[in-house]
Parts: sequence; C-alpha cells; structure tokens
Amino acid sequence: MKAVDVTDRVYPNDMDPFDSYRITLKPHAHLHYSYAIREGCMNIELSDYLLDAPDAVLRDTCKAVVSWAVRGKFRAPQSLIDFIHSDKFIVGKRPLYLERSRTVTMDQQGQFKNILDSVERLRESGLIFDDDIRNSFFSWVEHMAKYKFGQCNQLFRVVTVNPVLDSEEVPDFVLDYVVYHEILHLRQDSTKNRRPHNAQFKSWEHQFPMYEQAEFYLRNFYR
Ligand SMILES: [Zn+2]
Repeated sequence: MKAVDVTDRVYPNDMDPFDSYRITLKPHAHLHYSYAIREGCMNIELSDYLLDAPDAVLRDTCKAVVSWAVRGKFRAPQSLIDFIHSDKFIVGKRPLYLERSRTVTMDQQGQFKNILDSVERLRESGLIFDDDIRNSFFSWVEHMAKYKFGQCNQLFRVVTVNPVLDSEEVPDFVLDYVVYHEILHLRQDSTKNRRPHNAQFKSWEHQFPMYEQAEFYLRNFYR
C-alpha cells in the first residue's frame, strides 16, 4: 500500500499552533508516529494500520502528535488505545503485520516441535490461562537474533520462536519456558509497558517449575 493522504478526514480541527497540517498514513511494519515541521506546516505521518480507524481516532492521535511536538512527549490518546486493542483491529490487521514481518513461517509445526504442544502443556499445568492466549498467534520464524529465543508482539498478539529450538536435542521444557516467557508478555498490560521485565513479570516467570534449569540451558546454548 502506498501513502494515503487523510488530511481531509482530520480537519476541521483545533490543532494549534501550526499554520497548516498534512496527515498521511504510510506502510510500516510497526505502529508508527512521526512528524516534521517545514515552513509552519506540520507533516504528520501515521501508520496505515489506522486506515480504517474512525476519524475521531485519527484526530485525537494527530492532536497527541502536536502536543508531542510542543511538549516533547507522545502520549497515546485513549480512543487510539481502545481502537488498537479491539479484537477487530488485531484480527483485521494482524495478517498485514505478519506479511510485513517477513521471517514468520506462519507455522506452529516445526520440523521436530510444535509450539502449540508447548502452549497445551503450559495450560494443562495451570501456568497460563485461556485469557492469556485469547486472540493470539504463534509461529516459528526463519531466523532470529542469535541470543534471542522468542519474541512477542503485544499489539498484534504474535509470539514467534527462534528455529534453533526446533531440534530433537532441545528438551521440551526449554521450549515450554521460552513460550511461557512470551505468553507472559501477552498477559501484561501493554499500555503500561515501560519496563516489560518488571518485578511482577519476574514473579510470574519464577512460577515455571524448571526455571533455573531452563535459564541455565539457554545461557549455555551455544557452548
Ligand atoms: Zn521478555
């Protein structure tokens, strides 16, 4: 998708103090907000994931960008937060996100291991709850940074796992632990996510029965 000019959808507004505004939606893999000011005109660039957003959401978001330019801090407006956390948004835009993430295989079944088996074991052992994994998507990826074993996109509720763990030699509990860690990110309130590995997170993580062994295994993975 190319850039879409949505300036007309946002006007009329009360977005002082700039003379004029131009608002475009552009394709990005992640939700994205940026601005540039040229000769009194403020160019606001938002992600094209917001194309179907109500005009009010676009307007509130643009106002937040303006106040970011003036006061130096971007604070997502509540209407935007509500919109992007709706199941409709997640289900509707996740395919686009997955397509843009490129390395995602779209498969839970690897050569040797199925991520959903881990999810099931975690659920059966009472470590995770249905609500933790509601409207979520799991997949192997083609490759991931060497010392990263899993990743979670909280916005689109996507958990991906490093293919080095798709091996007969890797004990199931290690994969379970990695998947558990990422599911805990799904459990977190992503709107208050300054420090994802906070004390609350760590206490959840320590509930994993073989926590020490799994951490030890991963720390020494390449030795
Ligand atoms: Zn983490």
